This record gives sequence, structure tokens and C-alpha cells, in this order.
Amino acid sequence: MKIYAIKASAQSAFKDYKQAMGAPPQSINALAAAAPDWACVKTLDETSQAPANLHEPADLVIICMSTPDALRGYELAAAFRQRGIPVIFGGLHPSFMSEEALQHGDAVICGEAEQLLPAVLQDFRNHRLQRIYRNEAPVSIQRMRPYPQALIDLNAYGGLNSVMVSRGCKFKCEFCTVHKFFPTFHYRPVGEIVDEIKASGGQYFELHADNLIADRDYAMELFAALKPLNIYWLAEATLNIAEYPDILEAAAESGLFYLLIGLETPSQTALDAAGKKFIRINRAKENIARLHEYKIAVDSAMIFGFDQHNEDIFEESLDFVADIQLDHCDSVILTPFPGTDLFSRYQREGRILTRDWSKYDCNHAVFQPAQMTPAQLEQGAEWFAREYNSLGRTLKRYWRRQNNLGWQWQSLTGQ
Ligand code: SF4
Repeated sequence: MKIYAIKASAQSAFKDYKQAMGAPPQSINALAAAAPDWACVKTLDETSQAPANLHEPADLVIICMSTPDALRGYELAAAFRQRGIPVIFGGLHPSFMSEEALQHGDAVICGEAEQLLPAVLQDFRNHRLQRIYRNEAPVSIQRMRPYPQALIDLNAYGGLNSVMVSRGCKFKCEFCTVHKFFPTFHYRPVGEIVDEIKASGGQYFELHADNLIADRDYAMELFAALKPLNIYWLAEATLNIAEYPDILEAAAESGLFYLLIGLETPSQTALDAAGKKFIRINRAKENIARLHEYKIAVDSAMIFGFDQHNEDIFEESLDFVADIQLDHCDSVILTPFPGTDLFSRYQREGRILTRDWSKYDCNHAVFQPAQMTPAQLEQGAEWFAREYNSLGRTLKRYWRRQNNLGWQWQSLTGQ
């Protein structure tokens, strides 16, 4: 059986952001790893590779997508179904909007797909495909198969490998889909991660986790096991890593060179209201300085549009990112993705302005802000991006990064 697994991606600011992040996607690679031996899977990542081949010979197409890519996913589904090829949807958007997705496809896999996929494909083979598949029990990644390296074209990701470490997060931020999509926090045995890294032969890795330091003992065990491998790795974690000198040192010694943190905004009241009380803005500058001591680059977006934000937030954020010496920052408009508590609240409050999912790309105001007009929010976020990327500020950042990160920044990121 030939399966074409596509990560759909529309042309948008969201795509640009994801492409810049640059690691192989989890969704389609997890599917390829979980497929039974009698299924032959071909993967295609529209974010970093090329548009899907609508003439690809396939018995079944599986399309994974996030909300900004939903319309592109439906467009692809229509093209394949016109050829008589059934389409199954998976990923974030179809999991939370399964009834909508079913209007465009033959079935939906809701949530993590690994444990469901063999039964889904068996049903398809037996002409008994059901409409919706859900995990009835908590999913385990204790014995997951490694992603099939032969299917992953690392050139499309600048040589960056991705290895699954953990899924889920113990926090419950209002705007986040992670704790909704992964109902439990679960992680892989360290030995399996090490084996996969060794087998890949690579040197640069994304250690895929929603919060790498969520379990302190596990993180320490992982970093100790990575240290002899002489690799470089980047990951997502909270800035609180800098509050624990032993974890930070172990992470740095095992190859951490780039950390993505969710600092989001200089407004502590906005963070508190969004469920991110654990971030202390007044500690950010000191914490980032500690990361720089280990030559670790720090990246965080600034999100605009929280109820606590008025028009002053754009300039305040620009001063803030310069003051705390953040190494990279993107301008993002708060987006109430379906499935989040934020989406539910805005819906209750009558503040959702559009269900045109192509606008849910973090570049459009799709809800009514509390203290601005939607146009002011969009113009402010655009102003921030323009100012942040102005020649003067870019040069200043370049010299500051040279000072804070030295050779490591240049040789590992090419910037
Ligand atoms: S800490 Fe990050 S991953 Fe966890 S719920 Fe909050 S935003 Fe999501």
C-alpha cells in the first residue's frame, strides 16, 4: 500500500517563521515511523521542501496541518479526492476541528497518531475506514520507532536533525495548544534518544520537546548521556533553566547552543493572566546573561494583543528586547488557535472576528483586542518588526552577539 504523507503549508508569515526554525516536522515523520511494514510511506513537507505533487501515485493520502494551513490542506485533499484517492487528516487543526475536516476528507486522526495508525491502515485495507479515530488511553512514547532517516532530506533543514525527546507540558497557558493536544507529559527513555542520535551520524540536532526541562531528573540524565556524543543541539525550554546552575551547566556541556524560550511580552500582568506566572520578567535580563556566559543564544518572539496591552506595548517591547539582550526576536500577533482556552474565551465574549483560517498566521488580528483596534494591533506589530530589523538595530545586535556569543554563533548559525 502506497501512502503519501504531506505536511500542508500555505504561503504565509507562519510558513516563513516555521521554515526559519528549520527542523524536520514531527507529524509526518512520526506517521512514517509508526506505519506497519506492509505500508510504503513517502513524506513531503511543504514548509521546507516543495509543494505536494498532486500526481503522486498513492493508494491513500494523509494530510497533517496546523490552523494557518487548513485551507491549503483542504485544497490538497480536493485534488487527491478528485483522482479517487481517499484522504485522512491529522495534526493540530483537524484534531480540534474534526467535524470541519470531515467535510473535506474521509477520516480524521485526532491527537497523537502513532498508536492509532496501524489500526487505521488496517481498517482502510479492509474497506472499513471509520470517520474519526481517537486515543482511548494515554499514549506512550516509551518504545517509539526512530524517525526513518532515509525519508528525511536534511538539506532542506540546513543539516539540522530532529529527535523526539518528550511531548506535553505541565503548564497550561491560555493561548497554547500543547497541553490540549498532549493531555499528559510523557518522554522517551534516554537510551533510545542516544541510540537514535548515534545512528544518525549527524552533529546538529533539535531535541524536540515542548519544555525540555519540565522534569529536572530526566533532564539531568539526558544531558549526562549526551555529553560524550560531542553534538550541538537546540531546544525549547523555559528561561527558568538559568535559575538552576547545575541544569544549565550540564545542558551547555552536552552541546546546547540555541534556546527557544517563551518570554512573550514585557508585561508581567499579561503573562500572569495568560497562565505564565512562572516567568518573572524582572529576572529575564540576568537569566539571559547567564545563558550568554555559556555562549548559548536566546530566541523568543514578542506577542502583541494581550488584553493588558495598549498601544504603548510596541515601543516598550522594542526597548525590552534590546535591554535584555535577546539574540533573536520575531513579531507575533496573539492568535486564538482553535482548541485553546483563548479561542473558547474569545468565542464566549463574541471577540472572534473571522474564521478565515488563512488569517490565523500570527500576522493578522483575528480577534477584537481589548485596548486597541485590530488595525492598530496589526500596524503596531508591523512597526515593531520594521524597527527591530532596521539597519541600525541589526548592526548593534550583530556586534552585541559577537561580544556575547563569539565564534559559536557565527559558525553554528551562519549569521
Ligand atoms: S509553557 Fe510553553 S508549551 Fe507549556 S503550556 Fe505554556 S506556552 Fe505551552
